[in-house]
Amino acid sequence: MLKDKVAVITGGTRGIGKEIARVYASNGAKVVINYVSERSAEDAEKLVAQIQEAGGIACSFRADISNFEQAKTLMDFAKDEYGGIDILVNNAGITKDMLLLRMTEDEFDKVISVNLKGVFNSTKNALRTMLKSGGSIINMTSVVGITGNAGQANYAASKAGVIGFTKSIAREYAGKNIRVNAIAPGFIETDMTNVLSDNTKEGILDSVPMKRLGTPEEVANVALFLASNLSNYVTGEVIKVDGGMAM
Ligand code: NAP
Repeated sequence: MLKDKVAVITGGTRGIGKEIARVYASNGAKVVINYVSERSAEDAEKLVAQIQEAGGIACSFRADISNFEQAKTLMDFAKDEYGGIDILVNNAGITKDMLLLRMTEDEFDKVISVNLKGVFNSTKNALRTMLKSGGSIINMTSVVGITGNAGQANYAASKAGVIGFTKSIAREYAGKNIRVNAIAPGFIETDMTNVLSDNTKEGILDSVPMKRLGTPEEVANVALFLASNLSNYVTGEVIKVDGGMAM
């Protein structure tokens, strides 16, 4: 479905991003897997090796996407390595949960700078090369960007910002054959949710009609649809993958 397309996936070493990298590569894309921390370098290499062993094409690149210049080096690397960028998945994200009274300015700034400014940094640096032949941009937001969530004012604000950004860029570049969509996952089983207590998890599951967590693969399949020609007339859309949580 993605034969010979070049895809950059930010935050591609773990959780949802890792699964998107696998699914894209197995559908023929050349995949650039981004990550930020030194401790993920080995995981990135392992993932690249796994993809290559399965006959796919992939490489990894360390860059902090909250830094404009580093986001630029990531996109320049992808262009040099594979000749352009057709698909950008803005997936990297962090949480620093706290009730507002106790939330520090740094906790607010850090989440906004990775989750929202990072999407600006990566998109702006990838866009020019996409203008040549069109492309698909997929931004990872969250259902809490739509509903809000106590204890996540910073995170929910960043994800609501991503939705506004998605729709604005979709309008700006629709005429250039660049589609821009967002995925809003609900409660997905990854490192991000593994840190939650069993009590918190049970509380969240009460609000999920399907009564289970989602898997990274279930989000990756929607990311495959949005990257492929199957969604050629879909832009500016936010697709929830949440077991009915926020309907
Ligand atoms: P995760 O398992 O915590 O993985 C996060 C990824 O983002 C890692 O690869 C990490 O790299 C990377 N990253 C973090 N900061 C970065 C930065 N400054 N520059 C580049 N990469 C950075 O997360 P996840 O649960 O798969 O979530 C993926 C996306 O889905 C996020 O945007 C998240 O907000 C969203 N989401 C998740 C859920 C859920 O239930 N899991 C629900 C709704 C939305 P390192 O490995 O180097 O740290």
